[in-house]
Amino acid sequence: MEKEIPYKIYLEENELPTQWYNVRADMKNKPAPLLNPATMQPMTAADLAGVFCDELIEQELDNEHAYIPIPEEILKFYKMYRPSPLVRAYCLEEKLQTPAKIYYKFEGNNTSGSHKLNSAIAQAYYAKKQGLKGVTTETGAGQWGTALSMACSYFGLDCQVYMVKVSYEQKPFRREVMRTYGATVTPSPSDTTEVGRKILAAHPGTTGSLGCAISEAVEAEMKQEGYKYVLGSVLNQVLLHQTVIGLETKAALDKYKITPDIIIGCAGGGSNLGGLVSPFIGEMLRGEKKYRIIAVEPASCPSLTRGKFAYDFCDTGKVCPLAKMYTLGSNFIPSPNHAGGLRYHGMSPVLSQLYHDGYMEATSVEQTAVFEAATQFARIEGILPAPESSHAIRVAIDEALKCKETGEEKTIVFGLTGTGYFDMVAYQKYNDGVMMDYIPTDAELEASFAELPKVNL
Ligand SMILES: *Cc1c(COP(=O)(O)O)cnc(C)c1O
Repeated sequence: MEKEIPYKIYLEENELPTQWYNVRADMKNKPAPLLNPATMQPMTAADLAGVFCDELIEQELDNEHAYIPIPEEILKFYKMYRPSPLVRAYCLEEKLQTPAKIYYKFEGNNTSGSHKLNSAIAQAYYAKKQGLKGVTTETGAGQWGTALSMACSYFGLDCQVYMVKVSYEQKPFRREVMRTYGATVTPSPSDTTEVGRKILAAHPGTTGSLGCAISEAVEAEMKQEGYKYVLGSVLNQVLLHQTVIGLETKAALDKYKITPDIIIGCAGGGSNLGGLVSPFIGEMLRGEKKYRIIAVEPASCPSLTRGKFAYDFCDTGKVCPLAKMYTLGSNFIPSPNHAGGLRYHGMSPVLSQLYHDGYMEATSVEQTAVFEAATQFARIEGILPAPESSHAIRVAIDEALKCKETGEEKTIVFGLTGTGYFDMVAYQKYNDGVMMDYIPTDAELEASFAELPKVNL
């Protein structure tokens, strides 16, 4: 029986999802609405129109429709690099001597090297359809900026990327990939925006943060006619587009009548994890099935495991709407020695609500343990994983080792979100033995929580 399951489970073109799944439709407790930072009232479609494309606003606010058709133009692009393989990690299982069955859904098989292209192509499509000239965005590690550059060049849109300065300097080749696809890349904070100049004045020599790059990208969008701002994670619309991952995973597993016991994903802003688990959580919400879902985050940026479930700003400059989410506070910046990505201070409002309601667990891992798992995985399964993805690998291996002790044949599925070719500075630190773990103290977090906005809703 066992060997009938191939190393890679592919789907035929006619088995690919043609609709995204909107898990909000099945949630009894809907995620809290975004708030307008000027009025502290729920953002209406009209409020959001200054920032986002019209059709994306509809998706952002849609808590009712469970399925949203994927436009033909997006399906065409998806077909160039999807389905992504669902791989049975036979070699890893053997190495670990575990009775567990391990599968991973690999999203790194495209030039951007991550799942981010799934939403980038959708957001660029809607921007083009609305007749825009271009879009602005931020990028941290660089995967989102790369994905968006690819998507924009495909649809003939201008793409302006504010890249967190430390990454801009550490990953010159990422920047060059973006420029090859025609994007303009500016290190953030920069002196090209008011908010950037303000941050530079207050924190000279700062290496930047995602929250700060978001503020700059939003300001740049506001000041240019025919531009909108796009974001690669956190938002409901992004999580929606990423459900193509979970829908493919479920279709592939169903083909072989495989039911996972545990589903694991890394969590930064929550889009890959939300996309992977949405169809499975949908079954839980409808009372059909039960799974263990585990979100994995860095111990140095532990929004779910140590954050507060509260309204907070999505960016440092406080120009973006507020979201109710698990947050470390919008001023929280992970320690400079943190090399593993997933450094956003907040978490998707959808995932935050699901976690709050008990549909998901969360755990945090330290970065040396993450890179140990990454190295082990690279050597056994052949793929050099992104540090972000390796958080999920760590916990998948740990769960498989628990099965070895108990003798349980659990089925574990995890999201392998991308490749790590541009993260060799981080790997170098690990290989040189100079990578350090850092866990913020309670006092540090309390100081950050003290600055959370007071919202009476
Ligand atoms: C961006 C990114 C993540 C984290 O973002 P989420 O929105 O939490 O999915 C994880 N892995 C890779 C490879 C990424 O590029």
